[in-house]
Amino acid sequence: MKLASKDLLDIESLSPGEIELILDTATSFKDVSERTIKKVPTLRGRTVINLFFEPSTRTRVSFELAGKRLSADTINVSASGSSVSKGETLLDTVRNLQAMSPDVIVMRHGSSGAPHAVAKRVDAAVVNAGDGMHEHPTQGLLDAYTIREAKKRLSGLKVVIVGDLLHSRVFRSNLRLLTKMGAHVIITGPPTLIPPHVAKLGAEVAPTMDDAIANADVVMMLRVQKERMEGAFFPSVREYFRLYALTVARVERAKPDAIIMHPGPLNRGLEIDSSVADGPYSLILDQVTNGVAVRMAVLYLLTGGHGGLGQDKPPEGARA
Ligand code: ASP
Repeated sequence: MKLASKDLLDIESLSPGEIELILDTATSFKDVSERTIKKVPTLRGRTVINLFFEPSTRTRVSFELAGKRLSADTINVSASGSSVSKGETLLDTVRNLQAMSPDVIVMRHGSSGAPHAVAKRVDAAVVNAGDGMHEHPTQGLLDAYTIREAKKRLSGLKVVIVGDLLHSRVFRSNLRLLTKMGAHVIITGPPTLIPPHVAKLGAEVAPTMDDAIANADVVMMLRVQKERMEGAFFPSVREYFRLYALTVARVERAKPDAIIMHPGPLNRGLEIDSSVADGPYSLILDQVTNGVAVRMAVLYLLTGGHGGLGQDKPPEGARA
């Protein structure tokens, strides 16, 4: 089985079967990162360009490592060091990159839909690594991988997503993915940070954090995205912390085996207390670990699983 589209632009366009395919393929790749020699020859001779117009630590390093661990040639381009800073348009930039025959362009951009526009104009597979407030599909996939690894399923779970939902592409990808896979998504946050019409996408809005978190299987905290806020969305840090931060007392309202997640970067003391972020239920660093395996799977599937491998066979060297 393979992915229907040449690109991975959003979760919206993936079927549940394709989501499962990516997660299962990631499982085959996970142990590559646990070996002493963290490399398989699967994408030898392939080229992956990481084109980042917005800051990133985890996602960029993760895609670069994913490409390198598959033996692809990976190149990083950031807007500040490129001709974008000389005024070149996005489409001219990508046309020039396409002229050098990359197989995959991984792209982060501040405008929603930018990777979709690029994907139509290049032969390379385009992976959306976050477009404005729209989607961050590989984050949704790595979150689903992490939940599935811990809970052995997605269907029927109560997943609570809290905080700055309005500005969060992570929220949008997770909501789409989790509802497609049969999880029950409950959200809460300051009313100013809850997007309108969100119930139509399948989320249940809880009036308070305490209501939301009761009996949760998964608690996913979102970063307050100050860089996307013009004006005050909540009265003060103190007030936000009091009403919406994840504290040990609040975790106790969730199921005893609940897991805690956050896509990073963390605002410690604002949306999450350090004792929870670093505590026993936190899978925040497992999310980062799993991100590499999920991105290896995405790169592998989008390049057709070539390198002498059949589509349906497990990736070569993935299980030593
Ligand atoms: N790192 C994630 C993103 O790029 C989440 C965040 O920045 O809060 O969307």
